[in-house]
Amino acid sequence: MIALPKIALVGRPNVGKSTLFNRICGRRKAITDSRPGSTRDRNYAQASWQGAAFELIDTGGLLLGSDDPLLGPASEQARRGIEEADVVLFLVDARAGLLPDDEAIARDLRRAGKVVLLIVNKAEGRAPGLEDFARLGFEDVWPVSAEHGQGVGDLLDAAVSRLPAASRPEQTEDGPLKLALVGRPNTGKSSMLNRLIGAERALVSSIPGTTRDAVDSLLVRGGRQYLLVDTAGIRRTRQLKENVDHVSVVQARRSLERADVAILVLDAVEGLRDMDATIAGYAEKAGRGVVIAVNKWDLARAQGVRQKDFLAEVRDALKFLDYAPVVLVSARTGEGIGRLLTTADRVGEACRKRVTTGQLNRLVANAAKAYAPKAAKGAAAVSILFASQIGIAPPTFVISLSHPVDLHFSYKRYLQNKIRTAFGFEGAPLFLKVRTRRH
Ligand code: GDP
Repeated sequence: MIALPKIALVGRPNVGKSTLFNRICGRRKAITDSRPGSTRDRNYAQASWQGAAFELIDTGGLLLGSDDPLLGPASEQARRGIEEADVVLFLVDARAGLLPDDEAIARDLRRAGKVVLLIVNKAEGRAPGLEDFARLGFEDVWPVSAEHGQGVGDLLDAAVSRLPAASRPEQTEDGPLKLALVGRPNTGKSSMLNRLIGAERALVSSIPGTTRDAVDSLLVRGGRQYLLVDTAGIRRTRQLKENVDHVSVVQARRSLERADVAILVLDAVEGLRDMDATIAGYAEKAGRGVVIAVNKWDLARAQGVRQKDFLAEVRDALKFLDYAPVVLVSARTGEGIGRLLTTADRVGEACRKRVTTGQLNRLVANAAKAYAPKAAKGAAAVSILFASQIGIAPPTFVISLSHPVDLHFSYKRYLQNKIRTAFGFEGAPLFLKVRTRRH
């Protein structure tokens, strides 16, 4: 399991910790930790903000400074929550003002030497009287309304920026793999979502996404994190009665913008339609990795559909995606879903793969020896001077030519195939640019 960085919510009872908890996690009811071997009953959830994943802990309505023996064990839990936390969100109540219990908690937090953000909650529509709370001695003060969501985005920006660097989104290799479930209506995207999210108790939460009104879901499976992009959009589209085709294309394009890997969901019972290829085309143009998920395989198998025949149909209808792996799945039974995720992992890796300039030039030189470069028009002789990989996700290559001509598309395709055969790049589209050195 990857240990996620932790953010703990601390404060006396009724300051609004669970409201803030639910606001950040996008759910009504907090989930209780019941991991085996753990006596903790703190509320916790996994969430993410702007691509940074973290574990959120609600330490409950506990009085840290209390000597009351009845509160002892509970306080102990809160202490442990604080100990584990990378960042503490310390909540106080703007309406109630500063109370002695707040000061007691502040003392404990200072003693623990934690990164603390002071959250003045219930600050909606009023000047929250921050001076009072300034006495607690914390520099980072954030007025919010957990109830109405005001100020929560800014607060999360601040909290996430104080997490250990490894969990921050710029380190994409350590961040969750972003997956977009795309496909035409009724292929089973919502069912797959339910299967994925339903599979892991307490490890998923809906979270406010980076795009207006998009909600993503974080999934942790086999120690890996996945961010399912725009899960709300998939569910919303499912409920529509009109214009469904159009809306699912719009939804697909929008979620592709933010994904690393597209999971193209096909319907094994209905077979392929033009719209499958349309959506697949968008995934490729967007430069995303692609995994083809042939869904409803339970039913197709029962109806006697043969694997070999169906795969041939897929390859025929989606020729341009010949590099994308195909996984047979059933959202209904769960069959193949684990493999779908591990395949997506491999594709995600392939999208970020780099080959060295030496390796690439040797390969291209051999390819050109076997089959001389061909211009798009005319018969002018042209040779390849140099090749290099200039980018990842999607892997992007530049070929420098001796003369200013367009390479014939079939020759570009030939080079792409050579690169793919030599270096893998399973599921990743390869972008090839041609440059000419002018004399
Ligand atoms: P969406 O429009 O792509 O989100 O599709 P839904 O998830 O709503 O699924 C459309 C229909 O297909 C529903 O009636 C599902 O119960 C059914 N369905 C989805 N996945 C499977 C599957 O793996 N096997 C079977 N037999 N039915 C499925």
